Amino acid sequence: SRRPMVAGNWKMNGDLALVTQMQDAFKQNRFENVDVLVCPPFTLLAGFSSNDVGLGAQTISEHPGGAHTGEISAVMLRDVGCGHVIVGHSERRTDQHESNTLVAAKVNAAFSSGLTAILCVGEPLAVREAGKVFDHVAEQLDAVIGHCGSDVLNNLVIAYEPIWAIGTGNTASPEQVQEVHAFIRSHLAKVDAMAAAKIRILYGGSVNATNAAQIFAQTDVDGGLIGGASLKVTDFLAICQAAN
Ligand code: 13P
Repeated sequence: SRRPMVAGNWKMNGDLALVTQMQDAFKQNRFENVDVLVCPPFTLLAGFSSNDVGLGAQTISEHPGGAHTGEISAVMLRDVGCGHVIVGHSERRTDQHESNTLVAAKVNAAFSSGLTAILCVGEPLAVREAGKVFDHVAEQLDAVIGHCGSDVLNNLVIAYEPIWAIGTGNTASPEQVQEVHAFIRSHLAKVDAMAAAKIRILYGGSVNATNAAQIFAQTDVDGGLIGGASLKVTDFLAICQAAN
């Protein structure tokens, strides 16, 4: 059985005060059966020291180092205590024009340095309405496996985040989530059945303290990637509890 993970993606939010609040909250509330991860902005990473939760970044450079102004490498992330990094979030695919090829290179940069990438996949509404969700998600997965090799599946987390459900309050139904998660697992099983059985597939998109338990109860859902609700201590704790 897979150990659940709940990861908070702060996006471009939060400050030193929120770091302190979260550290205190997780010192007082332990979740024995779930891996909790906080992914604050780069500026807050070095100040986030906790034995109680894991630390992740929100993106990574595809380059190992050198003349790349403004970029952050895998080695730098490890240096400040990150074990994970979110890669290919839909907001970056849109705002920073990250292609499947670039996302694959970034996953490879993480993987080859021993960081666990949380690879985000998911479709826009038009793709769902056209009935092409599986094709869309398969293409996003295949780009990464093609570039990194199937070994990457042994140190990877997938996050299914349908774009129409992100920040909208309009969460996918548990049935919609399970359908895509089961597809992802079966698609990966064609490459490596053992790794596919073990890989964690998180759901993201308007998860909150109220709907989390029902989503996490689905067979192929192994936790969540939480945006807005990860900024509120009580909500985030409740979501972690729902996975525990
Ligand atoms: P919300 O939980 O705010 O919808 O964001 C989801 C998300 O994008 C997490 O990466």
